[in-house]
Amino acid sequence: MAMTYIEVSGTAYEIGRRQCEKLGELARIRYRRYGHYHADERPEHDLAPMIEWVQEHWPAQLEEVRGYADGLDMPFEQVFEFHFGPYVSAILDSQQCSNLGFSESPNGPILGGNLDDATGYVVQLTRRAGAYAHVGIVWPGWLSYWGGVNECGLAVSGSSARVQTASPPQPAQPPAWHSVYTARWVLETCRDVPEAIALLKQPGIAGHGNHIMIDETGNGVVVETHKPTGPYLAEHSWEPGGWICCGNFFVSEISPEEALASEDEHLRLRGNRVRLLREFGTRSEKGGGSIELLKATLRTHDGPDHGEGGICNPNNCCGVIYVPRERRILVAERFPCANEFIEYPLSGANPGA
Ligand SMILES: [Zn+2]
Repeated sequence: MAMTYIEVSGTAYEIGRRQCEKLGELARIRYRRYGHYHADERPEHDLAPMIEWVQEHWPAQLEEVRGYADGLDMPFEQVFEFHFGPYVSAILDSQQCSNLGFSESPNGPILGGNLDDATGYVVQLTRRAGAYAHVGIVWPGWLSYWGGVNECGLAVSGSSARVQTASPPQPAQPPAWHSVYTARWVLETCRDVPEAIALLKQPGIAGHGNHIMIDETGNGVVVETHKPTGPYLAEHSWEPGGWICCGNFFVSEISPEEALASEDEHLRLRGNRVRLLREFGTRSEKGGGSIELLKATLRTHDGPDHGEGGICNPNNCCGVIYVPRERRILVAERFPCANEFIEYPLSGANPGA
């Protein structure tokens, strides 16, 4: 079974509205699950200052949220609060995505990863007026964006993470840009990795995760962001062998070896994923990086802790391979060990950019 695929274009508002008109039932799954309050727990936020803040800093994104609300026939305030209220802090520790990149392959620099989250994501080709066109993985009706390739030849993919030595973040007041929205913002406004790094270093960009980015000229970086310790934590470029990887923790804080030796089972699993990613990275030093090697990486699920120990795991939503030089992505729905990768090209440039 292939992922659901849509193409959307126009203004930010039109994109949000059309997306929800087409895929509203999918969008509603998340709102039904997380967007409701019991009678005694509706927060008494005064949303006006929050809306004003987002309007000032992220006008296009606010317009897209308005489009979602109209497309779903939901109150705008409810959709807004879902995006910029406390909900986003609740999702931080549940995802365990894994990503690996090669600086060289027959197809240029390439990146691959498995998205670990609930299964409501779709493949979307987006042409927003005034932004770079891109093809990537989105959840309809939500600004969240896992990863994609844009028309300039930049690829970005995300991985949730949290620091081990600090308390989990509290909802920001005023609301801050959350890292689950960052990947898309990078693709819509940046041409290459240096521009993306500069963007992520801006003050006010909340972070809570890893973003791995490569571009067609061969730049590659993992950027660690975490709000309580400062928005921008660290960045790492290619390993000497020409590969790069990230999982669900910050190597600037804890090494995979330390994670593997931890008494925390979840931390051991995270460490094991990175151990596997590094194994495949090292393998590329001998045989070269390739799309086939990325597929083999994403398909492995028979690590030492069978089932949850490999890259492919029960929480997989999809596996994605990004080929920025060729402006295309390959996507395997749900478990890449079982499903074929299907190609989604980004053909044509965005006339509005
Ligand atoms: Zn599998």
